[in-house]
Amino acid sequence: MSVVVLGSANLDVVIALQRIPSPGETVLTDTISRGCGGKGANQAVAVARSGAPTTFLGAVGNDDAGRMLLDGLAGAGADVSAVRRTDGSSGTAYVMVDAQGENAIVVIGGANAGYTDLTEAEADIIRRADVLLMQFEVPIETVTAAASIARAAGVQVMLNAAPYAELPADLLENLDLLIVNEHEAALSAGTQGTPEEVATVILGSVPGVLITLGAAGSLLATRGTEPVRINAPHVTAVDTTGAGDTFSGAYAAATVEGLPAVERLRFASAAAALAVQERGAVDAIPDRARIDEALR
Ligand code: ATP
Repeated sequence: MSVVVLGSANLDVVIALQRIPSPGETVLTDTISRGCGGKGANQAVAVARSGAPTTFLGAVGNDDAGRMLLDGLAGAGADVSAVRRTDGSSGTAYVMVDAQGENAIVVIGGANAGYTDLTEAEADIIRRADVLLMQFEVPIETVTAAASIARAAGVQVMLNAAPYAELPADLLENLDLLIVNEHEAALSAGTQGTPEEVATVILGSVPGVLITLGAAGSLLATRGTEPVRINAPHVTAVDTTGAGDTFSGAYAAATVEGLPAVERLRFASAAAALAVQERGAVDAIPDRARIDEALR
């Protein structure tokens, strides 16, 4: 039982500042760190650390960042043998974080932006999966094509619609589960309301929707069954970056493990609650032993 994660991999360059510069202003700092990031890579790491066999599909550049990203993913246990190494730069995110924790981010698509089609070998990898998990940081044509390949092969298709983009009909028709936070859920539904109300509207176009509600927990609604809503564990959050990625990856892993709905949500919530208690995105994603311990 395996998960294929198709998506972005970025070098995250995090610059800590007293305050984020205004246009025309120069601010000095010497606090800078580099790490593995991108929603696709984060989610692949979350699936792999949750204990499910994981293959990552995407593209990195033939630069040092590309090597670092492949090493990071492989180190977490993901199969990176089909990741493309393209001429040019890897995707890069420049993240400025001020003393209050507010951030401003510039993302350069790099190799991710060039991932515009799928080879027959990549299509075969998708066909052999049990779950395909995707996001919106690679071109939407590729996400749409992958969903259609997966659907035709009976693979469960999960899409974390982040960063939010409108869902074209030819993508919607091939989704089994849409994973969205509250804000993205309201945009997808085209209406505000309680999570249950918003989920009901979304179920008009996809068979399942999972709405994450930050510290308030999560809600899973699938056509023909009662929605399941659970609270998040009470923890002290120090950095919620990557909470949604950890949740999505852990949920996909729990799905291929065959856990029932409420257990899938509990597993993903435990993983995300551990992640928010540590700084950083990929570094904060917990492994299976820590998730199991939190669930005890
Ligand atoms: P991000 O963009 O920060 O990665 P998101 O907006 O995609 O996150 P959220 O709904 O904020 O997604 O969080 C995803 C999940 O992470 C929540 O459903 C919850 O299980 C967990 N989570 C987030 N914040 C907290 C918190 N403060 N305490 C406990 N769990 C949390």
